[in-house]
Amino acid sequence: MVSGLKGQGSKQLPYQPPRTPILDPRALLLFDIDGVIRDVGGSYRRAIVETVHHYSGWRPDPAAIDSLKGEGCWNNDWEASLELLRRRRQELPASLAGEPFALPELEALVAVFGGFYFGGDPEGDPAQWRGFIGAEPLLVEAAFFEQLEEAGIAWGFVSGAEPPSVRFVLERRLGLADPPAIAMGQAPDKPDPTGLLQLAERICRQRSGRGLGAGAPPVAYLGDTVADVQTVQRARRALPQQAFLCLAVAPPHLHAPQRQAQRQRYEAQLQEAGADRILACTTAVLAAMEELLAGG
Ligand SMILES: [Mg+2]
Repeated sequence: MVSGLKGQGSKQLPYQPPRTPILDPRALLLFDIDGVIRDVGGSYRRAIVETVHHYSGWRPDPAAIDSLKGEGCWNNDWEASLELLRRRRQELPASLAGEPFALPELEALVAVFGGFYFGGDPEGDPAQWRGFIGAEPLLVEAAFFEQLEEAGIAWGFVSGAEPPSVRFVLERRLGLADPPAIAMGQAPDKPDPTGLLQLAERICRQRSGRGLGAGAPPVAYLGDTVADVQTVQRARRALPQQAFLCLAVAPPHLHAPQRQAQRQRYEAQLQEAGADRILACTTAVLAAMEELLAGG
């Protein structure tokens, strides 16, 4: 974690003029955003907790959310909130009451969730947002993407977060001009690999004048959940001639010293799911890529 960046939730960086991107990159590196580019422990994850509490009066602890995410199929935080409510309802002893609380419709839950997360109109002016999104520490700086570029690594983002939230962090917070990105609704949810493959293909064509497949630069993806790892595994099966690298990092809330045992379990899960390399932090990806590209 880049500790100096904590607490700069509302600070904006000026737009940078687009630089000439490198041609014929040695590799393509695509990033998940939540837990990799920004810490969402106090935003998306907190919105899950508060949304579940809104309907049930119960606040799930971080371990309950990690354990759900560890199943690999709850990448969408609205669905994850609804599933936590469903399970809570089943776990409550029948003797308590027949109907402890009613399960909401997804549409209603999305509105409650958005109230916590954006705290304003997601399609409106971000300056008016008053929700948890204003308190997302960044895990990298804009200069990090320049370093990748200088190392011959082209980059982009494949995220399950909503488009306004993705634009907010990449363009307003990091100051990246027109970053190649796929957000929620622009491709099927992970672990479906369609979004990853589409963006990698697009970048490869722009930069190398060719599509993915045998002889194309390797495509790496860095994520923080089992669903992210599975996305790469499925991309490999869909396109066996293409080289893929699956990198993973535990999310920031597991990097506290008192969480070491939990983090080790979490990392073991990522490895078991098929990650090629577990990183200590997002910025360690540059050194890891150098090693992997050198055949290490
Ligand atoms: Mg993530």
